[in-house]
Amino acid sequence: MGLKEIRAKSILRKAKKIDSWFISWYGMNLYRGCSHNCTYCDGRAEKYNVEGNFGEDVSVKVNAVEILKKELDPVGKRKPFKKGYVLLGGGVGDAYQTAEKEYLLARNALNLLNEYSLPVHILTKSTLIRRDGDLISEINRKRKAIVSISFSSVNKRLSSIFEPGVPSPEERLDTISFFRDRGIACGMFLLPVIPFVSDPEELIDEAVCRAKEIGVSFVIFGGMTLKTGRQKDYFLDVIENYDPCLLNDYQKTYAGDKWGQPTGSYFRAVNRRFRDIIRKYALPVRVPLELFSGILDENDLVTVILEHLDYLLTFRGWSSPYGYAAHSISQLKEPLSSMRGDLLKIRGVGETTKKIMLEILDTGSCAYYRRLMKEL
Ligand code: SF4
Repeated sequence: MGLKEIRAKSILRKAKKIDSWFISWYGMNLYRGCSHNCTYCDGRAEKYNVEGNFGEDVSVKVNAVEILKKELDPVGKRKPFKKGYVLLGGGVGDAYQTAEKEYLLARNALNLLNEYSLPVHILTKSTLIRRDGDLISEINRKRKAIVSISFSSVNKRLSSIFEPGVPSPEERLDTISFFRDRGIACGMFLLPVIPFVSDPEELIDEAVCRAKEIGVSFVIFGGMTLKTGRQKDYFLDVIENYDPCLLNDYQKTYAGDKWGQPTGSYFRAVNRRFRDIIRKYALPVRVPLELFSGILDENDLVTVILEHLDYLLTFRGWSSPYGYAAHSISQLKEPLSSMRGDLLKIRGVGETTKKIMLEILDTGSCAYYRRLMKEL
């Protein structure tokens, strides 16, 4: 593995709106590149400009903690820090990849987030996160922490082929148990499910069944993107070795969409499969309200609940007016409570959405949302 030390100009990445998957405004990449070398990783795609051979070369942002300290310090800041979980992980490099053993960037970043009493959501595929169990427990006691672990399946053989640098699914499941035993909310990101490889019903069922057994708080499901260029070329080479008969299916399913998305028909079929399975196990398919109630500003709370509602309805194959309204609300500068008489003037907000918004503003929750989260 080639490690290159680099100096970053900034660390915290602020989104344009609250992210309703992670309940966060801010994320960070402490490393560029990833020794986990998952064959499907979109960090390989040209658009992310990761230098060198992906999976072998990793850039380490050696000044990350120094920069993060300045970014978190409220002194001299014109705008207050947005409320929500700070996301550690995802993007173009796992925060708990091999280099972390030596550089401790994730640990030191967590120490800072703890100093500032910020809630943290960590997404990783690595069992190294257990090293920071005490610190994460402290953050959870003081504020709140969520540990999410991602899987493409819980099948050992498939994982060794498609995620060669990652601990086995069994070790990752044990890691979830480790944090659950410490009272920390854990999620399974069943993401990406690999088309024609880890997407058969029995494999998805097995993963969700294990998630239920170990007591995760939610399972978030997602398909795989395959962007034309480095990512697609690399992955299709792996598929050719795994089972050349699948190449044709891949060419049809990934027909060159700009974002690397599969065809709508594949997407709908695999989502239906997941829906039937998750119903059986009755697990939330988004971070549940009890994990973010009291953490967000009112506009963000309304945005997240409406986005979750949008997902829950489209998940059932129904149409939804809530996504558009959520986007409009996420861009507002004024608090919703100051515009209670004018809610219908917000783009995308009709009478039903207005009623839901008022209920959330008054009670911090919404009965319809709670019901849909339960009855998938
Ligand atoms: S762990 Fe995540 S960032 Fe690292 S290679 Fe795998 S998918 Fe990419």
